[in-house]
Amino acid sequence: MIDPAALPALHASHGGIWLREGGRTQAVAKGTAISCAAETPVLLLNAPLTGQRLGYPELNGLDLLELWAFVHPARFLVPTPKGLAEALGLERPATEADIPQLLQNATAALLSTLQSPNWVEREGGWTSAQSLHRLRWPWAPLVAPRITRPAEAERWLFSRLPEWEETPLRPAPRTISLDEAAVLERLAHLTGSGAEARPGQRAYAAAAGESFRPRKHRDQPNMLLAEAGTGIGKTLGYLAPASLWASQAQGTVWISTYTKALQRQLDRESLRLFPDPATAARRVVVRKGRENYLCLLNLEDALQGGFAGRAAILAQLVARWAAFSKDGDMIGGDLPGWLPTLFRRNGSTALTDRRGECIYAGCPHYRKCFIERSARASADADIVIANHALVMINAARGRETGQRPQRIIFDEGHHLFDAADSTFSVALSGQEAIELRRWVMGPEGNSRGRRRGLAARLSDLASYDEEGGEAIRAAADAARALPADEWLKRIVAGEPFGPIEQLLAAVRGTVYARAADVGEADAGYGLETELAEPDGPLVEAAQEAALALDGLLRPLTRLAKRLEAVIEDAPDWLDGAARARIEGAIASLGWRRDLIAAWLALLARIGGPADADFVDWLTVDRIEGREFDIGIHRHWLDPTRPLAEAVLKPAQGVLITSATLKGGGDWDNAQSRSGATHLPHGAQQFEAQSPFDYAARAEVLIVTDIKRGDIAALSGAYGRLIEAAGGGTLGLFTAIRRLRAVHARIADRLARAGLPLYAQHVDPMDTGTLIDIFRDDSRASLLGTDALRDGVDVPGHSLRLVVMEGVPWSKPTVLHAARRLAGGGAAYDDRLIRARLAQAFGRLIRRAEDQGSFVILSAAMPSRLLSAFPPGTPIRRVTLDEAIIAVSAHSRAGHADGIALGHQEVESGSHDLERE
Ligand code: SF4
Repeated sequence: MIDPAALPALHASHGGIWLREGGRTQAVAKGTAISCAAETPVLLLNAPLTGQRLGYPELNGLDLLELWAFVHPARFLVPTPKGLAEALGLERPATEADIPQLLQNATAALLSTLQSPNWVEREGGWTSAQSLHRLRWPWAPLVAPRITRPAEAERWLFSRLPEWEETPLRPAPRTISLDEAAVLERLAHLTGSGAEARPGQRAYAAAAGESFRPRKHRDQPNMLLAEAGTGIGKTLGYLAPASLWASQAQGTVWISTYTKALQRQLDRESLRLFPDPATAARRVVVRKGRENYLCLLNLEDALQGGFAGRAAILAQLVARWAAFSKDGDMIGGDLPGWLPTLFRRNGSTALTDRRGECIYAGCPHYRKCFIERSARASADADIVIANHALVMINAARGRETGQRPQRIIFDEGHHLFDAADSTFSVALSGQEAIELRRWVMGPEGNSRGRRRGLAARLSDLASYDEEGGEAIRAAADAARALPADEWLKRIVAGEPFGPIEQLLAAVRGTVYARAADVGEADAGYGLETELAEPDGPLVEAAQEAALALDGLLRPLTRLAKRLEAVIEDAPDWLDGAARARIEGAIASLGWRRDLIAAWLALLARIGGPADADFVDWLTVDRIEGREFDIGIHRHWLDPTRPLAEAVLKPAQGVLITSATLKGGGDWDNAQSRSGATHLPHGAQQFEAQSPFDYAARAEVLIVTDIKRGDIAALSGAYGRLIEAAGGGTLGLFTAIRRLRAVHARIADRLARAGLPLYAQHVDPMDTGTLIDIFRDDSRASLLGTDALRDGVDVPGHSLRLVVMEGVPWSKPTVLHAARRLAGGGAAYDDRLIRARLAQAFGRLIRRAEDQGSFVILSAAMPSRLLSAFPPGTPIRRVTLDEAIIAVSAHSRAGHADGIALGHQEVESGSHDLERE
């Protein structure tokens, strides 16, 4: 067997390159490292990242992360040398030069696990290793000989997964009111007997309990808007009444979040409600959109030859994970976020059910399907943890599925407006249209995989029912009018084919003719122009496209009617499986018909009168100058109108809560951005100030001597501030181009000082993994854009400085301009910016004992926006030199506090209490 110590090991960072060979580690040049890796397989950690550091993106080798994914599928790992050492109980490397040896030691430890009788994830390992050997996985020659062949055939993924049980529909919940004393008693039980009494939290829980009363008026839920400053403990504050109501009324409460981080936190909190993990898993269910979950049929297809090369290896590792996964959630669940990026995302999206091709009961894995299991579990749960988009979609479509949320808590409620904005919008784009074509027609030409069209999914109807079969054939014919593979190439070459491609070509022509200069910072990215005064070719193309879409809508409507009739008539061939398949098809046909109808309304607008309720515009989407989509978009001017109609009015009780619900503004802002203004009786309000001592523990520094647009000065400022804080810095940007420029200038220098710098849009890793790495290393810093502004929950010393590159002005988009006009001009802008500042500031102090500085590199920061920060927070306008002295002092004080309190970087259950 190959001895891991005999394998060369390579580590490359912004600080240097180290190679270990023949028992010696030395710093080497890029060329040496690359030629060594080309000649012989080298041990490394995260091949895409190492390759990027070497300037050689195609680098391959024995990646420890792939070995980890095989040995310990579904186990969390921070994918850094430190994270690997800690996970394996090995000594942490003191310097970067020690890392190659760590890689050898970690390899030895992981390989010896394969021979250990205590290897927890053994089942299926031997079978999988054999398949991986056939696929020439580089690790296979080291792994396969170490796994003992099992005496009997192993239970493999599909036999190992449990089946879900069919349960009768849950009766409607009882009508009850909650007793305030009982709510407070439940809260005391959840916080634990040792917890200090927190008046703000008790008042919050009592107010939240009121939203569970029976409602008094039609179309008027009991709705409460509750702003609770960071540290109130609002999570347990609403879980107390929610769990009490669920058990007393025998109903389900939906808790909706915007970020996955909060979903995970809530899932952990479920153990407070139900200390027995098995009960917790039954009573509290995390529910996501179906495109998040692994589709077992897609996986089976991939394992049986649907995938080739590296994608086939990924499929094997995903199969290992699926056998041990808690819920089959591939995005933000227990599949390591870094795993798909090791394979350059090759194939991972094809493993989920993104395109609505599910064949329901016709699928051999239907009874084990993760998606079906999660949907059934949520119907019976006390608490369903979901996200805003899913809650809105379920509320809007819930009549069909019987799962309409009736009692809803929207946490991170300041995002409700944006979530409604995207949920209720319409886009007729090339990407959307080709998806529809594939959904109707199935695979064409050389496409691989198991994709099926309508005819294959409804094969029994097509062969037994003449009318239904004819409608399917007519739909497939009509779908030929939609864009096909290579549509964008044809359009760019001036050779569009079919009416929708013609339309998109006309859209593209209009955008390039009219789009405003987007400025240097966004050059090469999206282009857009208002849909107004369309010229002749665009109007004509829209008319032709509408005729074609109408031609598709008709047979789909006939088919839907036929399917409904079949369910009613129940012919002989309609067994249970066929019925479930047809019911599934009716639902998904309904959504597609709605989509086409919305597209038709949008096309009628081209050349017709504008509708004041909507904002319509045309786009060409690009990344770094490369086009990837063309489309026509329609958003509601006020998306809280459909939100109120589809979600709020049908609900019994709604709590909308956040630490920044008013967005640094006033209650009018919260009322209008939550949809409350569209309810007959509006919403109640509740407010509790944060108990944190912002005056002593935080400060806002506005740096006045960095000239706008001076990248060298901006980079220098970031570099010096990060050094002053000793890392632990979150850097926020409004333009990707500037983020990259700053990162390129300072990453090497900081790395040499032992301060690793990571960045979204630079490092080949998903955002969740970047945040995990940042949280785990108190000397690391992270640069990012919007998603980090309030998706980061890093309590303690790991985050002690937030630096914003400037005032976060809104991008001058068509949509923004329309809403600005309708919302009061500059006052509207100010509200948005205050909200962004409040959210970004909220990253800094997550627990009572956190300390930190918030720096804005902008002399032009208007004083009127400073009310965004919590009352009492010191705010100073300073030079960069003064800011550096202040940051350094604050950071040292925070570090001393962290050590005194003994929890520098550790996240634990008790700390969750303190967070938002
Ligand atoms: S039931 Fe649908 S989603 Fe589930 S495994 Fe089968 S095809 Fe995939």
